[in-house]
Amino acid sequence: MEREGTVIRVEGASCLVQLDAPPGEGAAPPLRCPIRRGARSAEQGPVRLAAGDRVRVDGDGAIAEVLARRSKLVRRRPEAHDRGSRAREDVVAANVDQLAIVVAARDPAWEPRFVDRLLVAAEKGALAPLLVLNKVDLVREPAARAALERDVEIYRKVGYATLLASAREGDGVGALALALRGRTTVFAGPSGAGKSSLLNAVEPGLRLRTGEVSATSGKGKHTTSAASLLPLAAGGFVVDTPGVREFGFYDVHEQELPFLFPDFAPFRGRCRYPDCSHTHEPGCAVRAAAAAGEIAPARYASYVRIRESIAAGAAPDHS
Ligand code: GDP
Ligand code: ZN
Repeated sequence: MEREGTVIRVEGASCLVQLDAPPGEGAAPPLRCPIRRGARSAEQGPVRLAAGDRVRVDGDGAIAEVLARRSKLVRRRPEAHDRGSRAREDVVAANVDQLAIVVAARDPAWEPRFVDRLLVAAEKGALAPLLVLNKVDLVREPAARAALERDVEIYRKVGYATLLASAREGDGVGALALALRGRTTVFAGPSGAGKSSLLNAVEPGLRLRTGEVSATSGKGKHTTSAASLLPLAAGGFVVDTPGVREFGFYDVHEQELPFLFPDFAPFRGRCRYPDCSHTHEPGCAVRAAAAAGEIAPARYASYVRIRESIAAGAAPDHS
């Protein structure tokens, strides 16, 4: 009998597969499944599996079919200098639903510009973003707390899901667990923001490799860049990938950038020039909205900075 499951790790010619649990049953331990010769695939070309791929496993426990991908998280290969070429992208993980952007209220202080860059990457990759502001326990002083709430409100107003959290004291941990349930989530954020601590608060024992680069298998770059999925007891997965900070940003073009800022949408088509870049043109409705506070000035400033870095052909970074 064939069953469906999710690839949680690719290991050479076989995969670790988490089979879907029958209704009412808990998840069984993952199975190591070889890829059957001649396995069917919805993707073009040879079967190249990635963590997150949905597969059909046959009665012998071999992967017989790879189902169509809903989405993929790609990363430019280190050696690829021709930006945007599809042939040079690595699929880090398939079928990722959500990007959890974790930053700290303090230690290290968060940078809205960094958040805005990741939000653009999420929009580009069609991932639902979730902004988690961790370490709120370090901001007790009422004025500082109010300023923090105001900054987060900017994102809430745009329509983004936001969460104030403290991995240390437990605030927001239940809400985060709920947001992760049944979805495949990739975490991003500066080192030290508390990604591992939050995950551990959601489910003790979960450990992210983010930031570490392990080369123990000795197989070089490709092995070290491979992602795996961590199954959550409540259902859903967390993508565990070293180097996630660099993902997804390199193929954003100047012309599409305004469309990756949902807060600009009400002003679309209202500029004097149809090809307005929203940076310097007279009669720009977006710039006027930012000046009037209808678009948050900090968000508009991020737009201009990102646009400049794209124009300069800068390497993808989140600084
Ligand atoms: P990561 O690099 O994003 O995975 O961050 P870690 O989870 O390793 O956390 C970095 C440091 O911040 C550790 O020393 C944690 O104990 C601390 N930390 C994490 N969450 C909190 C929090 O909510 N409040 C406080 N005060 N410290 C935290
Ligand atoms: Zn404009």
